[in-house]
Amino acid sequence: MKLSTGWSNQMKFDSVVVRFGGEMGIKGEWTRRTYEKLLLENMKKVLEHHNIPRIKIIHKRGRIYIKTENVQETASKLTLVFGVSSASPAVETTSDMNDIVHRAVEVADIKFKNGCSFAVRCHRVGKHPYSSMDICREAGNKILVDLKSRDLKVNLTNPMFTLGVEIRDDYAYIFIETLRGVGGFPLGSQAKVICLLSGGIDSAVACWLVMKRGCSVIPLFFDIAPFTDEAAIAKALDVARELFKWSVGFPRRVYIVQHGRNLETFVGVNPRKLTCILCKRMMYRIAERIAEIEKAEGIITGEAIGEQASQTLINLRVLNEAVTNYPVHRPLLGFNKLETEKLAKKISTFEISIRKAKGCSAAPGKPATKARLENVKKAEQELDLEGMVEESIAEAKIVTV
Ligand code: ATP
Ligand code: MG
Repeated sequence: MKLSTGWSNQMKFDSVVVRFGGEMGIKGEWTRRTYEKLLLENMKKVLEHHNIPRIKIIHKRGRIYIKTENVQETASKLTLVFGVSSASPAVETTSDMNDIVHRAVEVADIKFKNGCSFAVRCHRVGKHPYSSMDICREAGNKILVDLKSRDLKVNLTNPMFTLGVEIRDDYAYIFIETLRGVGGFPLGSQAKVICLLSGGIDSAVACWLVMKRGCSVIPLFFDIAPFTDEAAIAKALDVARELFKWSVGFPRRVYIVQHGRNLETFVGVNPRKLTCILCKRMMYRIAERIAEIEKAEGIITGEAIGEQASQTLINLRVLNEAVTNYPVHRPLLGFNKLETEKLAKKISTFEISIRKAKGCSAAPGKPATKARLENVKKAEQELDLEGMVEESIAEAKIVTV
């Protein structure tokens, strides 16, 4: 193949096309710009964290083009940035049609399998002396002619390979592979929240869902030893580590509250069927205090309607009443277990969450499913709730994972 001057014989994937948009794209101008700026900062933090040198970053509306030597790692790490909808390792060239067509042939030569079908698709923004269709036609024909011996076929409806050409003003990017991101809003675009993280399947997913909407999170784990074993805390911290992969550059602090003594007190309170409600109300109260300390804006839990005996709608109202200054958000409220598990697998917390740990041995055989607020308040009457909160906060540990 004849290469025009300036081209190296060694064609290299040297760029990553990062797409965002979706919900971000339909925001008003000011919000969209603010979000895009934040997204770019978050992406740079990821590159720095993984020591990925970048040669150039071009930020355009709806796209960020990164020139780097390590395209595969860059693309895959950036799909863990909220806001990114997809990323493609690409070859950069000028927007000159000859350049594009020649590079397209080179990419096809490297990536296409013999005898495969392919399509060329072009996306173009800017002023150019050709149309997107011209590019598809020219590149497609040149691939067929120059790679004649490879027995390639064009198939526009169901191709085995799609060669993407994205032309943006003076540059063009040619790619085959697109890695999917999860979209959402850039982390930090919403306020901070306290996430009650148990190490179980549900709370991990709940936490991730609010992160996806832009909230930075502070996980809070209640250690109910001796009513559980050491495995519980290890699980919770491992889940937190996994979640923090989605928040590179943000604090990685986890609160650990010793809750065993509180729970022991509740076990001694009548009626016994209220133990879980009393325990959870205390968790909320402590979470509220931590939210105050951390200047967070809400409390997140993994509760879903009816998922556990303690999670009937009637009980949830009784739980809510324990906190007055902060809302308790439950992203999984309407999820069924399969939906939650599917997400847990996708975000890689599932395997950690199903690790064996001793279940709570303080749970009563028949927990209340229709707790009445007046009964709960009566049961709490004799307790020094404020003292329990104070002590728990004073003894709380903050660990960086
Ligand atoms: P998960 O799967 O998140 O453990 P679950 O279905 O087992 O939830 P519960 O044990 O009733 O349900 O807990 C409901 C929610 O309360 C959890 O999703 C979590 O947000 C919070 N929670 C429960 N136990 C703890 C704990 N030890 N530390 C922190 N939060 C907890
Ligand atoms: Mg649980």
